[in-house]
Amino acid sequence: MIRHHPEDELIVDFATGALGEGPALVVATHAAMCGSCRARVALVEAVGGLMLEDLEGEPVSAGLLDETLAMLDEGEDAATVAAPVAATDDREQVPEPLLRYIGRGLSHLVWRRVPGFPAIEEARLPIAAGVKAVLMRLKSGAVVPEHSHRGNEYSVVLAGGFCDGATSYGRGDFLARDPSHTHRPAADNDGDCLCLIVLDAPLRLTGALGMIVNPFLRI
Ligand SMILES: [Zn+2]
Repeated sequence: MIRHHPEDELIVDFATGALGEGPALVVATHAAMCGSCRARVALVEAVGGLMLEDLEGEPVSAGLLDETLAMLDEGEDAATVAAPVAATDDREQVPEPLLRYIGRGLSHLVWRRVPGFPAIEEARLPIAAGVKAVLMRLKSGAVVPEHSHRGNEYSVVLAGGFCDGATSYGRGDFLARDPSHTHRPAADNDGDCLCLIVLDAPLRLTGALGMIVNPFLRI
């Protein structure tokens, strides 16, 4: 069961093509696993089509966007079924929008350990300049060093799960973090966790280790 979804504004930006490649990849990957968000995107696209028709005729209703956002809120509790997790098959773990970014498969990516943290590996994905997109693999029970962000971080869980404070995340769950957040995610103890993470500015580690590790985490 997916419990964490993109905010309405992100869905609207995604559906209207206003989102950059990095965040759009995370939203598309989430939507591929989330029927509720696919419906939200389709609704915005339908409204966008009506607005274009209106442009040729009468002026667009000022309340149309508000009405659309209200409809999105109503639809948020729609039942959502996550695809089953398979340990080895890339296509089971990697939804369609992400497949073209991983080339020949997960095992062919260049995985590198995050310096100082042997339980965390990341593989960088090819994406637009100025954005960092990685697949991050956390070994069962691994803890990501406490960090904040200079920009926005968008994540979606592809396999396994983790906790961030009192909130737990599993396959399909979406997260957006801005510079006001400091967090320290910890992988669940019952298996490895695989996430897609997109950063539009470098991480800033806030703990003592940050002095050593920060230079390695730059975009
Ligand atoms: Zn969703």
